Amino acid sequence: MSRLAPVTLQANQPRDRPYAGGVGIAKFRRSTHSVPYTPEDFVGSTTEVHGAHRIGLSVLPDGQLLRDAIEHDPLGYLGPEHVKAYGRSTRLLVKLLNTQERLFVHYHPDDEFAAEHLHSPLGKTEAWIVIDAPPDGYAALGFNRRVTASEVTEWYREQDSEAMLAALNRLPLKPGDTVVVPPGQPHALSEGLLLVELQQPTDLSLILEHARFPALSGTDPLLGLPIEVALRALRMDGLTTAQLEDLRGSDKNPSSLLSCAADPYFSATRIAVDGSTALEAGFSILIVLEGSGSMTHPGGEFEIRGGTTILTPFEAGPVEISGQLTLLRCAPPQSANGTTAATV
Ligand SMILES: [Zn+2]
Repeated sequence: MSRLAPVTLQANQPRDRPYAGGVGIAKFRRSTHSVPYTPEDFVGSTTEVHGAHRIGLSVLPDGQLLRDAIEHDPLGYLGPEHVKAYGRSTRLLVKLLNTQERLFVHYHPDDEFAAEHLHSPLGKTEAWIVIDAPPDGYAALGFNRRVTASEVTEWYREQDSEAMLAALNRLPLKPGDTVVVPPGQPHALSEGLLLVELQQPTDLSLILEHARFPALSGTDPLLGLPIEVALRALRMDGLTTAQLEDLRGSDKNPSSLLSCAADPYFSATRIAVDGSTALEAGFSILIVLEGSGSMTHPGGEFEIRGGTTILTPFEAGPVEISGQLTLLRCAPPQSANGTTAATV
């Protein structure tokens, strides 16, 4: 059997998503083609859109689904340490996300709630790396005070967007910022953002604000749960300014661009190449932000440039990147796979 090699991944944007977006992704990928309501590009995905058979799964250049390829060769793709800790789950979903309208207020369940109520062993912790933002770009994240279940139920029944947004912290976002979104924390995003999003590999959202978003009309905002059950997954105690600051990336975490809060779930590093840089072996998703150059691996070499997305299987070994480029390396939890996402 021939050794696995890094591969470039084509755009993989599920259609008819419940909010407008997609033009920013096409621009990032240097494509002129964009379809409305395709605000998310699932990169190196083994995750289906909730309730949609096969939609969201990445297809490899040979036509095989990445999910099936990993199922057949988990050690080759993920490496022995990762498989020992997590089995065949990549533990990672990476997306490009572009908002052309404000994203509705929603939250995600944690692992325990997802297992108990949503038939999923994993919930969804997510993190954002801001690639592009308008001057007034922002995230709304976490309540700015303690709220009660009856208050939130009232907002939900009345679909009182103003009250929901007024109760959330407002976090200005600019390119380069990173934010970890713990499960249970309500959040929304402004219009005009382009993000790289790292997530646990599920598509579970509990949506509080739906009436203003006609594209949500065919979906159940609470995934079939009664409001009183769904609210058990919501963090109603609020986030203080200090807690919010801890969710932003800082120099405090030497091994990831993201806050330490993300370490049990995934990591991301920014790599600037000027000349030549070697990357350690490991399953990862690379997003080339800008520049041009090439990737060399034991089986060959290919050109890369801004907008290229690449999957590196563990078995491909260390790869070398040459040229002048800036890229992000997104990886599963580091403690488990024994590699670091950093350069060597
Ligand atoms: Zn979210």
